[in-house]
Amino acid sequence: MLSPSGWAEVPCARCERRVAGLAWGELCSECRAERNRRANRLARRISLPATLLVGLYVILRLPPLPVARFYGLLAVLTTFIVVRKVVQRVALELLPR
Ligand SMILES: [Zn+2]
Repeated sequence: MLSPSGWAEVPCARCERRVAGLAWGELCSECRAERNRRANRLARRISLPATLLVGLYVILRLPPLPVARFYGLLAVLTTFIVVRKVVQRVALELLPR
């Protein structure tokens, strides 16, 4: 069935609500937002402990030199950003619909 805008109304793959302009097998905007929220929550829950572990390692194992502290801080920040991005991406690919 065509909507007034001329696009075919296609059911969402998850909630089966009909949305105009959606491709077959795609999620509607609400389901996509919910999926992004779940991925972000999971990414936060994994990246914070990983960052804490790296921070503990930096505090306990690196010598107290200013250069070592600087690179330790850099490693902690990089760990947080990279782990968060990777987990977010993997979660978006692997989370069930
Ligand atoms: Zn939906």
